Amino acid sequence: MTEPALSAPTSYDHVWKNWAGNHTVTPAMYARPRDESEVVDAVRYAIRQGMNVRVAGTGHSFTPIVPTGGLMLDLAQLSGVTATDPQRLRATALAGTTVGGLGEPLWKAGLSLSNQGDIDKQVIAGALSTATHGSGIELPNMSAAMRRVRLVDGHGEVVEIGEDQVRELRAAQVAIGSLGVMLEVELAVSPAYYIKEEISYRPWQEIEDSWDRLIADHRHFSFFWCPADHSVDLYQLPAPPDQPMSNHCYVKIYDEVEVTEPDGLVSDDVGNRTDRAYRVYPGGYEEPFHEMEYMVAAEHGLEAFNEIRRLMLDEFPDQLYPIEVRWTAADDAYLSPNYQRDTMVISVSGAPGTDYWPFLRTVDQRLQRYQARPHWGKIHFMTRDRLGELFPEFDTFLAVRREFDPDGTFLNDHLRPLLG
Ligand SMILES: Cc1cc2nc3c(=O)[nH]c(=O)nc-3n(C[C@H](O)[C@H](O)[C@H](O)COP(=O)(O)OP(=O)(O)OC[C@H]3O[C@@H](n4cnc5c(N)ncnc54)[C@H](O)[C@@H]3O)c2cc1C
Repeated sequence: MTEPALSAPTSYDHVWKNWAGNHTVTPAMYARPRDESEVVDAVRYAIRQGMNVRVAGTGHSFTPIVPTGGLMLDLAQLSGVTATDPQRLRATALAGTTVGGLGEPLWKAGLSLSNQGDIDKQVIAGALSTATHGSGIELPNMSAAMRRVRLVDGHGEVVEIGEDQVRELRAAQVAIGSLGVMLEVELAVSPAYYIKEEISYRPWQEIEDSWDRLIADHRHFSFFWCPADHSVDLYQLPAPPDQPMSNHCYVKIYDEVEVTEPDGLVSDDVGNRTDRAYRVYPGGYEEPFHEMEYMVAAEHGLEAFNEIRRLMLDEFPDQLYPIEVRWTAADDAYLSPNYQRDTMVISVSGAPGTDYWPFLRTVDQRLQRYQARPHWGKIHFMTRDRLGELFPEFDTFLAVRREFDPDGTFLNDHLRPLLG
């Protein structure tokens, strides 16, 4: 008997490409479900056909964690904040809601996401799945906020994982889409807050001399160290024309401030804004780059950073993207790169169209002695053996994964050797 067509709008020639342009695929089927029942229908169809399933967020990952030759689902139509609870500091959203799309509805309920990264274009399910983070030594990555998730698993069933299922929740928080299709998430959030931004341009020596104080004294401290004057241009970071940037840093400091007369006091001077948190966090990034990002224990941060800075100056002077440095607090998700470890995040990029691989491989090698863990959405060189050594609960994650998806429906060629 012929299988009925999917209830969701489907195409067979959709070319999917990620934001950075380094991964592209034409899946066998590309479907855009309009509601939960169409997602369930699509997953069950794929299971019957023996097809793999991957969900595409907004494609802002640099690793091939979305491509599949099977069924690709786009959940953009499952979008919106479905509940807020200012007393319990909770918000619930459909999986296809963008991070930016959470800002205004949460604010209206007196709430804010506790932290955000450099952009807000990602869908919330994508950001959680890869442990997307901002900066702040006391602020964990976004996945630490997950309190409940509703998903379609590899049996084709809709299941909910809540706070009382500690083992399953810690696996689901950072699962890179490998437990199933997330439909809705409940997040712990903060009371709405304002941020004062301070952008400055400082010589590297000044940052090194005040390292501990800068990390400890601010809600958010991060910087971009520039090997050359025009490095800032590669990330479109605004710098005054006469500002020397070689061996200098573009420094971002955000502190929470009280604003008693909200609309009267908000200032939108670039580099010196005071505004609602969700408006200050996201930046630009118009031009693609190919980024790798690793996390080392915060106490080794300065040493690890200096090693990569010297590597760029001495051995790879042709690599000109800034090194971005941020901090993230420890959490308990099994595959979180910040698992039980306060972290310094170090990221480097290569220019599309150039052979940056020797540089990235050398960075990977140099950071191995710091037991550096990868950002799941950014280029890395992990093997299953390395993951087993770096993540103490790796086997627990694999066991939960197999319970939810015994036939590996939610794996692809990149993830199968790592998590299969
Ligand atoms: C310009 C730029 C800036 C960035 N800035 C930061 C930053 O500041 N901090 C940081 O940590 N990262 C940053 N990233 C990385 C980015 O946040 C992550 O890669 C994030 O996962 C991308 O989200 P997405 O919606 O694009 O998801 P995708 O890249 O499309 O997918 C990510 C993963 O989520 C899975 N997924 C998506 N939706 C679902 C669902 N409903 N159910 C199950 N699985 C799902 C996908 O299958 C995939 O495995 C940046 C990336 C770019 C390109």
